[in-house]
Amino acid sequence: MSQRAAFAGLSDAGHSRSHNEDAFVAQPPLYVVADGLGGHKAGEVASGIAVETVAREAPTRPDARALADAVQLANTAIVDAVEKGTGRQGMGTTVTAAVVAGRRIVLAQVGDSRAYILRDGRLSRATRDHSLVGEMVRQGTLSEQEARVHPNRSVITRALGSRADVQVDTYELTADPGDRLLICSDGLHGMITDAEIEEVLLGASDAEDAVRTLVDAALDAGGLDNVTAIVVEIGADSPQGDVRPGRRIIATTFWVVAAVALVAAAVWGLYGYASNRAYLIAENGSVVVYRGVQGTFAGIELSWREEITDIRIDTLPEVTAERLTEGVPADDVVEAMALVGEYRALVSEDATTTAP
Ligand code: MG
Repeated sequence: MSQRAAFAGLSDAGHSRSHNEDAFVAQPPLYVVADGLGGHKAGEVASGIAVETVAREAPTRPDARALADAVQLANTAIVDAVEKGTGRQGMGTTVTAAVVAGRRIVLAQVGDSRAYILRDGRLSRATRDHSLVGEMVRQGTLSEQEARVHPNRSVITRALGSRADVQVDTYELTADPGDRLLICSDGLHGMITDAEIEEVLLGASDAEDAVRTLVDAALDAGGLDNVTAIVVEIGADSPQGDVRPGRRIIATTFWVVAAVALVAAAVWGLYGYASNRAYLIAENGSVVVYRGVQGTFAGIELSWREEITDIRIDTLPEVTAERLTEGVPADDVVEAMALVGEYRALVSEDATTTAP
Protein backbone atom coordinates (compact mmCIF):
# COMPACT_ATOMS: atom_id res chain seq x y z
CA MET A 1 0.00 0.00 0.00
CA SER A 2 1.42 3.35 -0.95
CA GLN A 3 1.51 6.08 1.66
CA ARG A 4 -0.81 9.04 1.11
CA ALA A 5 1.15 12.21 0.43
CA ALA A 6 0.93 14.72 3.30
CA PHE A 7 2.25 17.54 1.14
CA ALA A 8 3.03 18.14 -2.51
CA GLY A 9 4.02 20.98 -4.81
CA LEU A 10 3.75 21.32 -8.57
CA SER A 11 4.55 24.04 -11.09
CA ASP A 12 3.89 24.32 -14.81
CA ALA A 13 4.91 27.03 -17.31
CA GLY A 14 1.40 26.98 -18.78
CA HIS A 15 0.40 27.18 -22.43
CA SER A 16 1.35 30.73 -23.36
CA ARG A 17 4.60 31.47 -21.53
CA SER A 18 7.95 30.29 -22.86
CA HIS A 19 9.46 29.85 -19.40
CA ASN A 20 8.38 29.44 -15.84
CA GLU A 21 9.01 32.46 -13.63
CA ASP A 22 7.24 30.87 -10.67
CA ALA A 23 9.32 29.07 -8.05
CA PHE A 24 8.38 27.03 -5.01
CA VAL A 25 9.84 25.16 -2.07
CA ALA A 26 8.03 22.40 -0.17
CA GLN A 27 10.32 21.29 2.65
CA PRO A 28 8.32 20.66 5.83
CA PRO A 29 7.71 22.63 7.90
CA LEU A 30 8.29 25.33 5.23
CA TYR A 31 6.24 25.92 2.08
CA VAL A 32 6.87 28.86 -0.26
CA VAL A 33 5.46 30.05 -3.59
CA ALA A 34 7.04 32.97 -5.47
CA ASP A 35 5.82 34.46 -8.76
CA GLY A 36 8.59 36.39 -10.47
CA LEU A 37 8.10 39.48 -12.60
CA GLY A 38 10.36 41.46 -14.84
CA GLY A 39 10.34 39.40 -18.03
CA HIS A 40 13.32 38.29 -20.09
CA LYS A 41 14.09 35.63 -17.47
CA ALA A 42 14.64 38.27 -14.75
CA GLY A 43 11.48 37.10 -13.00
CA GLU A 44 13.00 33.66 -12.65
CA VAL A 45 16.08 35.15 -11.03
CA ALA A 46 13.95 37.10 -8.55
CA SER A 47 11.61 34.24 -7.60
CA GLY A 48 14.58 31.86 -7.36
CA ILE A 49 16.44 34.17 -4.98
CA ALA A 50 13.23 34.58 -2.94
CA VAL A 51 12.57 30.89 -2.34
CA GLU A 52 16.25 30.11 -1.73
CA THR A 53 16.64 32.93 0.79
CA VAL A 54 13.40 32.14 2.63
CA ALA A 55 14.35 28.44 2.72
CA ARG A 56 17.70 29.33 4.27
CA GLU A 57 16.44 31.95 6.73
CA ALA A 58 12.97 30.72 7.75
CA PRO A 59 12.33 29.60 11.33
CA THR A 60 11.81 25.89 11.97
CA ARG A 61 8.85 26.68 14.25
CA PRO A 62 5.68 28.63 13.43
CA ASP A 63 7.04 32.08 14.30
CA ALA A 64 5.34 34.71 12.14
CA ARG A 65 7.79 37.47 13.00
CA ALA A 66 10.81 35.33 12.13
CA LEU A 67 9.16 34.23 8.89
CA ALA A 68 8.50 37.88 7.95
CA ASP A 69 12.18 38.60 8.71
CA ALA A 70 13.16 35.84 6.29
CA VAL A 71 10.99 37.48 3.61
CA GLN A 72 12.67 40.84 4.35
CA LEU A 73 16.07 39.19 3.83
CA ALA A 74 14.83 37.78 0.52
CA ASN A 75 13.85 41.33 -0.48
CA THR A 76 17.32 42.61 0.42
CA ALA A 77 18.92 39.76 -1.54
CA ILE A 78 16.95 40.69 -4.67
CA VAL A 79 17.71 44.41 -4.33
CA ASP A 80 21.42 43.53 -3.87
CA ALA A 81 21.35 41.23 -6.89
CA VAL A 82 20.06 44.07 -9.09
CA GLU A 83 22.85 46.33 -7.81
CA LYS A 84 25.47 43.67 -8.58
CA GLY A 85 24.07 43.22 -12.06
CA THR A 86 22.46 39.81 -11.51
CA GLY A 87 19.06 39.87 -13.12
CA ARG A 88 17.65 43.21 -14.23
CA GLN A 89 16.46 46.53 -12.92
CA GLY A 90 12.77 46.28 -12.20
CA MET A 91 12.75 42.56 -11.50
CA GLY A 92 10.68 41.49 -8.55
CA THR A 93 8.59 38.72 -7.14
CA THR A 94 5.63 37.91 -4.98
CA VAL A 95 6.15 35.57 -2.06
CA THR A 96 3.72 33.64 0.09
CA ALA A 97 5.40 31.49 2.74
CA ALA A 98 3.98 29.17 5.40
CA VAL A 99 5.48 27.36 8.35
CA VAL A 100 3.23 24.54 9.55
CA ALA A 101 3.68 22.64 12.82
CA GLY A 102 0.89 20.31 13.79
CA ARG A 103 -2.26 22.41 13.66
CA ARG A 104 -0.48 25.77 13.77
CA ILE A 105 0.11 27.73 10.57
CA VAL A 106 1.92 31.03 10.18
CA LEU A 107 2.00 32.89 6.89
CA ALA A 108 4.08 35.75 5.50
CA GLN A 109 2.99 37.36 2.26
CA VAL A 110 3.81 40.05 -0.28
CA GLY A 111 1.99 40.32 -3.62
CA ASP A 112 -0.88 38.33 -5.06
CA SER A 113 0.13 34.71 -4.55
CA ARG A 114 -2.46 33.34 -2.14
CA ALA A 115 -2.88 30.96 0.75
CA TYR A 116 -6.24 29.23 1.17
CA ILE A 117 -7.46 26.92 3.88
CA LEU A 118 -10.05 24.19 3.41
CA ARG A 119 -11.69 23.87 6.81
CA ASP A 120 -14.76 21.75 7.55
CA GLY A 121 -15.24 21.31 3.82
CA ARG A 122 -15.30 25.08 3.15
CA LEU A 123 -12.59 27.01 1.36
CA SER A 124 -11.52 30.41 2.65
CA ARG A 125 -8.75 32.78 1.70
CA ALA A 126 -6.08 33.13 4.35
CA THR A 127 -4.28 36.08 2.71
CA ARG A 128 -5.20 39.40 1.11
CA ASP A 129 -3.88 40.18 -2.38
CA HIS A 130 -1.61 43.17 -2.76
CA SER A 131 -3.03 43.95 -6.15
CA LEU A 132 -4.80 46.86 -7.76
CA VAL A 133 -8.02 44.90 -8.28
CA GLY A 134 -7.73 43.44 -4.77
CA GLU A 135 -7.69 47.00 -3.35
CA MET A 136 -10.67 47.96 -5.51
CA VAL A 137 -12.66 44.90 -4.38
CA ARG A 138 -11.92 45.72 -0.73
CA GLN A 139 -13.02 49.32 -1.31
CA GLY A 140 -16.22 48.08 -2.91
CA THR A 141 -15.55 49.73 -6.27
CA LEU A 142 -15.19 46.40 -8.09
CA SER A 143 -16.86 43.02 -7.69
CA GLU A 144 -14.95 39.72 -7.51
CA GLN A 145 -16.36 38.82 -10.92
CA GLU A 146 -15.27 42.15 -12.44
CA ALA A 147 -11.82 41.75 -10.88
CA ARG A 148 -11.32 38.42 -12.66
CA VAL A 149 -11.60 40.03 -16.10
CA HIS A 150 -10.22 43.50 -15.31
CA PRO A 151 -7.47 44.58 -17.78
CA ASN A 152 -5.22 45.54 -14.85
CA ARG A 153 -5.87 42.37 -12.83
CA SER A 154 -2.18 41.42 -12.87
CA VAL A 155 -0.94 44.78 -11.50
CA ILE A 156 0.41 44.14 -8.04
CA THR A 157 0.79 46.92 -5.52
CA ARG A 158 3.54 45.31 -3.47
CA ALA A 159 6.46 43.07 -4.47
CA LEU A 160 9.91 42.04 -3.32
CA GLY A 161 12.79 43.79 -5.07
CA SER A 162 11.39 47.27 -5.61
CA ARG A 163 12.73 49.06 -2.54
CA ALA A 164 14.99 48.56 0.47
CA ASP A 165 12.13 47.84 2.86
CA VAL A 166 9.00 45.94 2.04
CA GLN A 167 5.86 45.67 4.14
CA VAL A 168 5.25 41.97 4.86
CA ASP A 169 1.79 40.84 5.95
CA THR A 170 1.67 37.97 8.43
CA TYR A 171 -1.18 35.72 9.53
CA GLU A 172 -1.43 33.10 12.26
CA LEU A 173 -4.08 30.44 12.29
CA THR A 174 -4.91 27.16 13.92
CA ALA A 175 -6.37 24.50 11.68
CA ASP A 176 -7.92 21.12 12.42
CA PRO A 177 -6.63 17.67 11.52
CA GLY A 178 -7.90 16.89 8.03
CA ASP A 179 -7.90 20.54 6.92
CA ARG A 180 -5.91 21.36 3.80
CA LEU A 181 -3.65 24.35 3.19
CA LEU A 182 -3.15 25.57 -0.38
CA ILE A 183 -0.54 28.09 -1.51
CA CYS A 184 -0.71 29.13 -5.15
CA SER A 185 0.32 31.70 -7.74
CA ASP A 186 -2.21 33.77 -9.70
CA GLY A 187 -1.77 31.35 -12.59
CA LEU A 188 -4.09 29.11 -10.55
CA HIS A 189 -6.52 31.48 -8.83
CA GLY A 190 -6.70 33.69 -11.92
CA MET A 191 -7.68 30.78 -14.14
CA ILE A 192 -10.17 28.90 -11.97
CA THR A 193 -12.65 30.15 -9.38
CA ASP A 194 -12.54 29.65 -5.63
CA ALA A 195 -15.56 27.34 -6.00
CA GLU A 196 -13.61 25.14 -8.41
CA ILE A 197 -10.58 25.13 -6.12
CA GLU A 198 -12.83 24.12 -3.21
CA GLU A 199 -14.30 21.26 -5.22
CA VAL A 200 -10.86 19.89 -6.14
CA LEU A 201 -9.53 20.16 -2.58
CA LEU A 202 -12.63 18.40 -1.25
CA GLY A 203 -12.41 15.55 -3.72
CA ALA A 204 -8.65 14.92 -3.88
CA SER A 205 -7.42 11.68 -2.33
CA ASP A 206 -4.20 13.26 -1.04
CA ALA A 207 -1.93 16.30 -1.49
CA GLU A 208 -0.31 14.91 -4.64
CA ASP A 209 -3.67 14.24 -6.26
CA ALA A 210 -4.79 17.75 -5.23
CA VAL A 211 -1.88 19.66 -6.81
CA ARG A 212 -2.02 17.57 -10.01
CA THR A 213 -5.77 18.14 -10.39
CA LEU A 214 -5.50 21.87 -9.59
CA VAL A 215 -2.69 22.50 -12.08
CA ASP A 216 -4.52 20.46 -14.75
CA ALA A 217 -7.68 22.48 -14.15
CA ALA A 218 -5.75 25.78 -14.64
CA LEU A 219 -4.21 24.42 -17.85
CA ASP A 220 -7.61 23.23 -19.11
CA ALA A 221 -9.01 26.71 -18.37
CA GLY A 222 -6.41 28.22 -20.72
CA GLY A 223 -3.14 28.07 -18.79
CA LEU A 224 -2.40 31.69 -19.68
CA ASP A 225 0.18 32.10 -16.91
CA ASN A 226 2.73 30.04 -15.02
CA VAL A 227 0.82 28.00 -12.48
CA THR A 228 2.07 26.75 -9.12
CA ALA A 229 0.30 24.98 -6.25
CA ILE A 230 1.39 23.51 -2.93
CA VAL A 231 -1.05 21.51 -0.82
CA VAL A 232 -0.37 20.51 2.79
CA GLU A 233 -2.53 18.11 4.81
CA ILE A 234 -2.94 19.40 8.35
CA GLY A 235 -2.09 16.66 10.84
CA ALA A 236 -3.02 16.12 14.45
CA ASP A 237 0.31 16.98 15.98
CA SER A 238 3.68 18.16 14.91
CA PRO A 239 5.92 15.13 14.26
CA GLN A 240 8.66 16.76 16.35
CA GLY A 241 6.19 17.61 19.10
CA ASP A 242 5.35 21.21 19.84
CA VAL A 243 8.01 23.11 21.66
CA ARG A 244 6.18 25.20 24.24
CA PRO A 245 7.84 27.84 26.36
CA GLY A 246 7.31 27.65 30.14
CA ARG A 247 4.58 29.66 31.88
CA ARG A 248 6.98 32.24 33.30
CA ILE A 249 8.35 33.04 29.88
CA ILE A 250 4.79 33.49 28.62
CA ALA A 251 3.94 35.89 31.50
CA THR A 252 7.06 38.00 30.95
CA THR A 253 6.41 38.03 27.25
CA PHE A 254 2.85 39.24 27.89
CA TRP A 255 3.96 42.41 29.74
CA VAL A 256 6.69 43.18 27.24
CA VAL A 257 4.20 42.69 24.41
CA ALA A 258 1.64 44.93 26.16
CA ALA A 259 4.19 47.78 26.54
CA VAL A 260 5.39 47.42 22.98
CA ALA A 261 1.77 47.32 21.79
CA LEU A 262 1.04 50.75 23.34
CA VAL A 263 3.95 52.37 21.52
CA ALA A 264 3.15 50.45 18.37
CA ALA A 265 -0.48 51.58 18.44
CA ALA A 266 0.60 55.24 18.36
CA VAL A 267 3.03 54.69 15.50
CA TRP A 268 0.50 52.45 13.79
CA GLY A 269 -2.12 55.19 13.74
CA LEU A 270 0.29 57.39 11.84
CA TYR A 271 1.23 54.57 9.50
CA GLY A 272 -2.41 53.66 9.04
CA TYR A 273 -3.20 57.16 7.86
CA ALA A 274 -0.19 57.31 5.55
CA SER A 275 -0.58 53.83 4.13
CA ASN A 276 -3.99 54.67 2.74
CA ARG A 277 -2.67 57.70 0.85
CA ALA A 278 -0.51 57.75 -2.26
CA TYR A 279 1.45 60.08 -4.50
CA LEU A 280 3.24 60.11 -7.83
CA ILE A 281 6.67 61.59 -8.38
CA ALA A 282 9.39 61.78 -11.01
CA GLU A 283 12.33 59.57 -10.13
CA ASN A 284 15.28 58.77 -12.41
CA GLY A 285 13.25 60.06 -15.32
CA SER A 286 10.26 57.79 -14.72
CA VAL A 287 6.85 58.25 -13.10
CA VAL A 288 6.89 56.35 -9.80
CA VAL A 289 3.91 55.54 -7.58
CA TYR A 290 4.37 55.70 -3.83
CA ARG A 291 1.95 54.57 -1.15
CA GLY A 292 2.02 57.01 1.76
CA VAL A 293 2.72 60.72 2.13
CA GLN A 294 5.72 62.74 1.03
CA GLY A 295 8.28 63.79 3.59
CA THR A 296 9.03 62.50 7.08
CA PHE A 297 7.44 62.78 10.53
CA ALA A 298 9.87 62.83 13.45
CA GLY A 299 12.43 61.27 11.16
CA ILE A 300 10.12 58.44 10.16
CA GLU A 301 9.55 57.97 6.47
CA LEU A 302 5.91 57.35 5.72
CA SER A 303 6.02 56.16 2.16
CA TRP A 304 6.61 52.91 0.34
CA ARG A 305 7.42 52.67 -3.33
CA GLU A 306 4.69 50.69 -5.06
CA GLU A 307 5.56 50.80 -8.71
CA ILE A 308 8.07 52.21 -11.14
CA THR A 309 5.98 52.80 -14.25
CA ASP A 310 7.24 52.63 -17.83
CA ILE A 311 6.22 56.27 -18.39
CA ARG A 312 9.23 58.52 -19.02
CA ILE A 313 8.92 62.07 -17.67
CA ASP A 314 10.39 63.58 -20.85
CA THR A 315 7.54 62.12 -22.92
CA LEU A 316 4.92 64.04 -20.90
CA PRO A 317 3.70 67.60 -21.45
CA GLU A 318 5.97 70.10 -19.72
CA VAL A 319 3.39 71.26 -17.19
CA THR A 320 2.62 67.67 -16.15
CA ALA A 321 6.32 66.86 -15.89
CA GLU A 322 6.86 69.90 -13.66
CA ARG A 323 4.06 68.87 -11.33
CA LEU A 324 5.49 65.36 -11.12
CA THR A 325 8.92 66.70 -10.18
CA GLU A 326 7.36 68.17 -7.03
CA GLY A 327 5.02 65.24 -6.43
CA VAL A 328 1.32 64.79 -7.15
CA PRO A 329 -0.73 63.58 -4.17
CA ALA A 330 -3.57 61.08 -4.63
CA ASP A 331 -6.30 59.89 -2.28
CA ASP A 332 -5.08 56.31 -2.50
CA VAL A 333 -3.14 53.86 -4.65
CA VAL A 334 -6.20 53.18 -6.80
CA GLU A 335 -6.50 56.88 -7.67
CA ALA A 336 -2.74 57.08 -8.26
CA MET A 337 -2.94 54.18 -10.70
CA ALA A 338 -5.85 55.87 -12.46
CA LEU A 339 -3.61 58.96 -12.86
CA VAL A 340 -0.93 56.71 -14.32
CA GLY A 341 -3.53 55.62 -16.89
CA GLU A 342 -4.21 59.26 -17.72
CA TYR A 343 -0.50 60.04 -18.09
CA ARG A 344 -0.11 57.01 -20.33
CA ALA A 345 -2.81 58.41 -22.59
CA LEU A 346 -0.83 61.66 -22.84
CA VAL A 347 2.25 59.88 -24.11
CA SER A 348 2.44 59.36 -27.83
CA GLU A 349 1.85 55.72 -28.80
CA ASP A 350 5.42 54.99 -29.89
CA ALA A 351 7.11 56.69 -26.95
CA THR A 352 6.21 53.95 -24.51
CA THR A 353 6.12 50.21 -24.31
CA THR A 354 3.40 48.38 -22.47
CA ALA A 355 3.97 45.28 -20.44
CA PRO A 356 2.21 42.16 -21.76
MG1 MG B 1 1.68 34.81 -12.26
